[in-house]
Amino acid sequence: MGNLRIPGPTPLPPDVLASQSKQMINHRGPEFGELIGRVTDDLKHFFQTENDLLILTGSGTGAMEAAVVNTLSPGERVMAISIGNFGDRFTEIARKFGCDVVKVEFPPSQAADPDEIARKLDADPAITTVIVTHNETSTGVTNPLKEIARVVKERDKLLIVDGVSSVGSIDVKTDEWGCDVLLSGSQKGWMAPPGLAFASLSKLAWDRHAKATLPRFYWDFSLAKKYLEHGETPWTPAITAFYALDVSLKAMRAEGREAGFARHARIVTAFHTPEGVDSRVIAKELETEYDTVLAIGQGATTTTTMRVGHLGWVSEEDIDAVMQSLGEVLNRVPAASTG
Ligand code: PLP
Repeated sequence: MGNLRIPGPTPLPPDVLASQSKQMINHRGPEFGELIGRVTDDLKHFFQTENDLLILTGSGTGAMEAAVVNTLSPGERVMAISIGNFGDRFTEIARKFGCDVVKVEFPPSQAADPDEIARKLDADPAITTVIVTHNETSTGVTNPLKEIARVVKERDKLLIVDGVSSVGSIDVKTDEWGCDVLLSGSQKGWMAPPGLAFASLSKLAWDRHAKATLPRFYWDFSLAKKYLEHGETPWTPAITAFYALDVSLKAMRAEGREAGFARHARIVTAFHTPEGVDSRVIAKELETEYDTVLAIGQGATTTTTMRVGHLGWVSEEDIDAVMQSLGEVLNRVPAASTG
């Protein structure tokens, strides 16, 4: 296998890989009950929360849709903050479901400004809810979530956070900062395969849920909570992904939460390509000549940025190896891009 360095799905440690060859179990039996209980507790440790935490079978986008249909109503005025592709996606989901969305955009590659958010909230008191991406994976920019949460909570709004590529690898103090709904996905910083999404919910989130009138079925959070109380999920869960996550969370616990955050913080993330050099040319060279797979940008920054995946099971040496290959390619690439 080559050096897979995209921001999820990530390579998996050998014991996580091996755990996926285990036989199926009854998802309505005691063994699964223990498994979901243990995994939920471990996830809460990394979410730094005492709130309810639900594990959904689906991808991160499913959790985004779940957050919308479980807490909002048609016509409800919602602020959606976007600094890139994933912020745009959350905006679109809320709009598709009939919310009255005020989109607040900041230029790609820049973080959102909490003071501007505060001003816009003060000017538009009908807004009930703020949606924000923590780490905008499409550009590698991390929003100042603590400060954004402060201005949102000072104004008593519901705060929904897309933490798909941040929770587990970047410090998020869910309860202390007041993140009402916080989402993540198994294939990102969790050293686990795709297939599971996580959502933590505060008391305010449950209050809103009780009043929200958007239709919901598969993603109904009340059902998920009710079944979790008996160690089950409403629908058939991705059992294999649960096996893997159970093993990866043990490794994350062994490393230590803060040590894991520090390791992620030391590693390079995203960069602009040199003037006039197309990211797709660099990516192709790296893959064909060095068996190394990097991600190019997304949306407006597709051809001008590259992203070095460094979530989950990754060391500084792994990234050094990527940098070495990248250096060699960049020395040759003007010829490659014109030829
Ligand atoms: N939000 C962010 C910040 C992401 O990075 C991603 C995936 O890359 C998603 C949402 C969507 O997750 P998924 O691809 O699992 O649906």
